[in-house]
Amino acid sequence: MVKSNKIKKIVIFLGYSCNNKCIFCYNENKNTKIKLITNGRILSNKNFTESLLNLGINHIVFLFYGPNAEIHDNIVGISGAFNQLKKGIKNIKNLGFFNISSTTIIVKQNYKYLVEIRKFIHKMDIVNADFIFVNPNNSLSKKNFYNIVPTYENTAFYINTLLKFCKTKKISCYVKNYPLCFIEPEYHRIVKESLEKKSGRIKIEKCNYCKYKTICQGYWKEYVQKRPYVNKFNFDPIDMKSIKKISKKVNLLKKDPDRFEKIYFLLGLKKVLRLAIKNQKIKDLTRFLETYDYVIDKEKKYIFFSKDIKLAKKAKEITELLQNSLKMYSFKLSEILSREYNHILGNLYGYPSCCSYKFEDNKYYNVENKEYELSGGKLVLHYACSKNCQKTKALHEEILTRINRTKIKFLKETILS
Ligand SMILES: [Zn+2]
Repeated sequence: MVKSNKIKKIVIFLGYSCNNKCIFCYNENKNTKIKLITNGRILSNKNFTESLLNLGINHIVFLFYGPNAEIHDNIVGISGAFNQLKKGIKNIKNLGFFNISSTTIIVKQNYKYLVEIRKFIHKMDIVNADFIFVNPNNSLSKKNFYNIVPTYENTAFYINTLLKFCKTKKISCYVKNYPLCFIEPEYHRIVKESLEKKSGRIKIEKCNYCKYKTICQGYWKEYVQKRPYVNKFNFDPIDMKSIKKISKKVNLLKKDPDRFEKIYFLLGLKKVLRLAIKNQKIKDLTRFLETYDYVIDKEKKYIFFSKDIKLAKKAKEITELLQNSLKMYSFKLSEILSREYNHILGNLYGYPSCCSYKFEDNKYYNVENKEYELSGGKLVLHYACSKNCQKTKALHEEILTRINRTKIKFLKETILS
């Protein structure tokens, strides 16, 4: 577990340092007037609490990170912190102070327990609860990004479940710093997205095609940097070495059912190549791709190749989530999630964002449409988002350009025949 050494903040207009060591610590220092944001530990001291209230505090925000001591203490890096927090709240209430609310930062360590956390906050008689997706743009959460910052697609189920729980139970709950495309439309009004102006967030390519683009702030900037597969990739250089090797096995290539996919991958048009295994032998699947690492999904349906094995693993992981999504989630939620999954997979496989993001809309346009048969071949392998998709046309041209650049005649014949 990651721990910081000295933390000078989490609240504190009063001028004392924070005694927690939260794994994601960042500043909450925009407080004005007399509002106290606290981890609550110091308030377990009754005398201190009394003198604090005498200063004229009018609102206290408690920071909750887990539904129990185990999770909470682990995140704040102090054992006993959860019990002190509970005692602090009790002290405050015994002194007749009730204007209190809570904030939970959503991190990898707690996102599966959001409903439990809200239940606990409710049990503590706290009316207002904010749930804020961790800001990875600075400080410890930037440094330890992969340990702390969960993915949007993994948290979506738990955040929607939290919002559903709060709506059903008629208790207050706000989610902040979270893109609306992951939230069921019926809960949009309780996601404080449109109200916030975030300088640290950016729109990604799919946002251009999103109907919520004017009211949503997009993704955290650092998130897109650390997880570039959410956005459009630049194409890779052509792997001339492997392509030249193919020239000795042209007859095998012509019989290979995956020749288009394999050639596009070697042309640098795909970060990840996914092939359906069906009845093929590994030897045949890996032919022409000998220099690349690969992984296979749990159901043994697909094999994933990449120059960067982390990306192949990502595609495998998302494919498995997609395979499980109907089992795990309600149908509607599964639709939302599967769109996000397909968008990411599309980016990994080198398809235009507009097309992969709309993949779940059931409005497929056949790529065998004349529009794309620019040179007599059916070169584009994905479902285009519209008959006039400019990105699909551009990709088609890129394929032709790259084939011509290899100056390998049989390649052109194979692809265009
Ligand atoms: Zn498109």
